[in-house]
Amino acid sequence: MWFNPDLSSMSQPSEITALAAPHVRSLHAYTPGLQPKESGWVKLNTNENPYPPSPRVAEAIARELGASLRLYPDPLSSGVRRAFAQLQGLAENQVIVGNGSDDVLNLLVRAFAGGTGKGVAYGMPSYSLYPVLVAIENGATVEVPFTREMTLPVDALARSEASLLLLTSPNAPTGVGFRTVDLEKLAQAFRGILVIDEAYADFAEENAMSLVGKYPRVVVTRTLSKSHGLAGLRVGFAAGSPEVIDVLDRVRDSYNVNRLSQAGAIAALGDSTHLAGVVARIKATRAAAEAGFRARGWFTYPSQTNFLFTEPRTSDGATGAEVARACYDHLITQKVLVRYFGSHALTRTFLRITVGTDSEMEALARAIESWQKTASPR
Ligand code: PMP
Repeated sequence: MWFNPDLSSMSQPSEITALAAPHVRSLHAYTPGLQPKESGWVKLNTNENPYPPSPRVAEAIARELGASLRLYPDPLSSGVRRAFAQLQGLAENQVIVGNGSDDVLNLLVRAFAGGTGKGVAYGMPSYSLYPVLVAIENGATVEVPFTREMTLPVDALARSEASLLLLTSPNAPTGVGFRTVDLEKLAQAFRGILVIDEAYADFAEENAMSLVGKYPRVVVTRTLSKSHGLAGLRVGFAAGSPEVIDVLDRVRDSYNVNRLSQAGAIAALGDSTHLAGVVARIKATRAAAEAGFRARGWFTYPSQTNFLFTEPRTSDGATGAEVARACYDHLITQKVLVRYFGSHALTRTFLRITVGTDSEMEALARAIESWQKTASPR
């Protein structure tokens, strides 16, 4: 006989929520940029790479497809750790691999959020996932404000007395890079774990990987999602001292990176020629787009990433949150998708625009021109 559940006796959603841990009841899921289902969009909203990954990735994944999928993957992702460590001049026990760098950021928060210290600190504005990860762990947040100049507030960050400090460098959503000398001053002054989230480092002029061997409390995170064009593969890294990596391994899911992703990641890390070519193209398009925005009179932060943070201006010179929002809305009508962050004073007059192909950036320019012709800001 089939089991026939009596649906009328099932709990209501509110009763289900009451069974959750108190801090979970008030959580909100992280809202990523839109991923439209239908084609035809110029998609410049989630900092994906407009170019395909190395062809070696598909070959490696194809070799892995088949009987071996019966078997669990290597729980340590040893081959990927080795490949990344070799590239960075590190030892294998200084690296952990995750299901995207979001996963390694989550491990860092999971391990250190409740440690001695006043919570988890981060600069504002920066990557909007950080407070979500801290809320999941029921941790306390310490927000350290940036100013419009977007320079690194070394003293204020060091004074935060947090157990963990999450710093995006180059920063998001501004694209502004921080100097390694300043990050080193912070590493010397801050007493907790300093995480430098280098998701965009391959597009930057410098990076802070050299601090990993020097300071046991410094962790640098990286990803294959941006420069390697593998956002769909979900592979990220944390590099740190063996002591920090050991702590992260204790809180990791046992098989946090699947077989196909491990195979693809090793192949991607082995193709530095492909990476260099793609990065050079994106930087050239970025320079042209940056010059284009400035020629329109739009204030644009100097970008060391694959996106631009620019302040839209109507043809009669107006800027502001309403102007930025109106521009965003108009671009959507032209099937151009960018990102608008309306919740912070330093971001709400700007748009964040991923660097696409040259033809995508031309479509964006046409859409902006049609907006400037029609814009009635107030
Ligand atoms: N850090 C920053 C600053 C990011 O912008 C992103 C992408 N949204 C990530 C980390 C996460 O990237 P992934 O999980 O795809 O590696």
